[in-house]
Amino acid sequence: MTDRKTQLADNLARVEERISAACAAAGRPREDVTLIVVTKTYPASDVRLLAELGVRHVAENRDQDAAPKAAACSDLPLTWHFVGQLQTNKVRSVVNYAGLVHSVDRARLVTALSKAAVEAGREVGCLIQVALDAETTERGERGGVAPGGVSDLADAIAEAEGLRPAGLMTVAPLAGPYAGRPRAAFDRLMEIATHLRAAHPAANMVSAGMSADLEDAVAAGATHVRVGSAVLGVRPRLG
Ligand SMILES: *Cc1c(COP(=O)(O)O)cnc(C)c1O
Repeated sequence: MTDRKTQLADNLARVEERISAACAAAGRPREDVTLIVVTKTYPASDVRLLAELGVRHVAENRDQDAAPKAAACSDLPLTWHFVGQLQTNKVRSVVNYAGLVHSVDRARLVTALSKAAVEAGREVGCLIQVALDAETTERGERGGVAPGGVSDLADAIAEAEGLRPAGLMTVAPLAGPYAGRPRAAFDRLMEIATHLRAAHPAANMVSAGMSADLEDAVAAGATHVRVGSAVLGVRPRLG
């Protein structure tokens, strides 16, 4: 193996151990939790190595970087997840490669995604990004809709052609009552997810937890963890 492949394999093994241990501690079967590797800022060659190492889910947060990378990796058996704040002028590109968008947070975006998905002949799974720093205000600091807006948005996704409600996503907040309390934040997300599933039973994905807090997310009940730096290394710039 190349040096880079060995490094990625070692990092993946360490992350796999952490997920397994967290599942065991929570009394959950390991297969309840899917690892999504966040490849933002890293090259297509790394995505290729990850696929060779068995990774099947990758995520990106900027369409400008993701679109060429996904095109370069279109021969690989990967599901691409879009996890960044999304502008409506980017959706036409995003629906071409992303099977799932984790950052749906407003009605206008639902409309735009639906139109683009229909035009592309694709079905896109939509996760609603919940802003837990925005219990009272409408929008979160880093995107996301306040918990009170989830239900209307889920109904809009369910009614939109080309889209299906897939679940919820959150990022542990840096501000507000949940700042520094990822476990409490993820427990709150699970409550909201339970309500969502009552209305939309198929919307059962709970995307929570990153390199620093995946254990808290698995303990709370997350079905998908999004891990970047623990697999690929600390990113050279914010992304
Ligand atoms: C970058 C990013 C991640 C991964 O973060 P790490 O700390 O590198 O694991 C997860 N989710 C979102 C939305 C991201 O932007």
